[in-house]
Amino acid sequence: MKITLRTKDSQQRVIIQTPDDAAPPAMIKFPGEPSHQIALDWSGAVDDEKCLKRCPVCGCKDMYVSNSFPQITALVSIALAAVFCLVMIYHKWIIPAIVVSVVVILVDVLIYLFKKPALICYDCQTEYRSLPISKHHGRWEQGLGERYKHKRQSQD
Ligand SMILES: [Zn+2]
Repeated sequence: MKITLRTKDSQQRVIIQTPDDAAPPAMIKFPGEPSHQIALDWSGAVDDEKCLKRCPVCGCKDMYVSNSFPQITALVSIALAAVFCLVMIYHKWIIPAIVVSVVVILVDVLIYLFKKPALICYDCQTEYRSLPISKHHGRWEQGLGERYKHKRQSQD
């Protein structure tokens, strides 16, 4: 499991990675700030399928799924490769054009296969990766996102 934590004030990020079979950390310390640590409450946070039910950092039950690899990147790379190939075909470089298109398609397929979705807490925006994600978590919803944004702003 990989956890990326953000502090509200300093926007500092802490990334913690544990082996899949190891117990998740109960306490996260911020480097350079020994007094700054955050306790994680895992009791009842995980369901029978080992999916997160609620955020162990803040207890928030609203979380959303985010793909770490933006789909637009694949579209842009395919479009660029297509233009590049047209230019090469125009110059009658057929073999290099085929090679370029095959390489681009392969790279996109590999990225698609290896991209790992993250589960992100609406409230504290901690990211959880490399863990099973329950089907009941959906994609980011604007309504919920705005509500938690207002909540954060009113706390400041
Ligand atoms: Zn949270």
